[in-house]
Amino acid sequence: MTLFGCLLMVVISGFIIFRLLIGDYYEAFINTCIVLSLAIVMLYAFRQSDSNRAGILFIFVNMTACVATTAMFGSTGLFWAYLVLWVNFLMARKRIAFFANLALILGLFFTESLYDTQLESITFLVTSLLITVFSLVFVERLQHQQEELERLAMQDPLTKIGNRRMMQHEIAHVVALFRRNEQPATLVLIDLDHFKKVNDQQGHEAGDEILRQFADLMRSNIRQADGFYRYGGEEFVLLLPDHDEASGLGVAQMMHQRVSGKIEQNGWVLRFSAGVAALKPEESPEAWLMRADQALYQAKQTGRNRVIVWDNNMSTGRRELAVDQPVD
Ligand code: GH3
Ligand code: MG
Ligand code: MG
Repeated sequence: MTLFGCLLMVVISGFIIFRLLIGDYYEAFINTCIVLSLAIVMLYAFRQSDSNRAGILFIFVNMTACVATTAMFGSTGLFWAYLVLWVNFLMARKRIAFFANLALILGLFFTESLYDTQLESITFLVTSLLITVFSLVFVERLQHQQEELERLAMQDPLTKIGNRRMMQHEIAHVVALFRRNEQPATLVLIDLDHFKKVNDQQGHEAGDEILRQFADLMRSNIRQADGFYRYGGEEFVLLLPDHDEASGLGVAQMMHQRVSGKIEQNGWVLRFSAGVAALKPEESPEAWLMRADQALYQAKQTGRNRVIVWDNNMSTGRRELAVDQPVD
């Protein structure tokens, strides 16, 4: 929006100078109004950070400028219409742009004074409608690809559950909710027990298959509101919004009962350890994860295949958790 707005302002300013030089003061005045309107919309977009509303205003200025240009210069102004029809789709939501374009096209089509022959008006109608349809298709494909990229960036390719990036995003959201509304949340850090053995004994492919089965079984046992993410390797995170320590621990134990020991491959039985930590006031996501990791460490130390909730005695973690590291 800024790029297009600035470019347009520079170009139209050139026209203002040209008009002033040849003495067309009225046209120069109209062009100055257009430049000022663009500047106001851009200022609004910067100040409010509201690109939706700014986009609608931008469309409005564009269309008004286009109508004013055709009113002043007749059919020469139609050339600008093509630019406006295309740019509208880049500025606002596609539905708004589509209807704005239809209004502009019909308005210009029925202004008979713009055309010498009926063929000209019909040609304008057809070409401008085509531009609108192509722009719509283009924007739709662009949006689809963007959504696909976002999905890929947030998903673990092996298990198809959210990856560490998605987890960080959701944890930040839950932490913000807790600070604003004191909505509790509990985190369960899960690590598969002796997983290395599967790879050593049955190969990496078999290990991958177990990871997939584990993720599927976990996913089928959690609520819609709960988050389940691959933290990396054979470590997973279960994020339980609206759960305090007691109920979060209850969910973790229930999941342990339902999943640990329930997946088996060529004699190797999947079991896991889990560390539970409920979010504390003013706690950072990193500190929260660190406490869950300390509880997980205790679960490993005390014999594995169990769920341990964090308590004050677990002061030091087994390692530094660098939550910004990419997955794998
Ligand atoms: P512990 O009970 O102490 O957690 O033992 P462990 O063997 O599970 O732990 P360790 O951290 O020593 O080994 C984790 C293993 O997980 C090592 C690695 O080969 C395996 N692993 C990590 N990511 C993947 C993966 O994407 N696919 C497969 N097949 N294996 C993985
Ligand atoms: Mg591990
Ligand atoms: Mg492990």
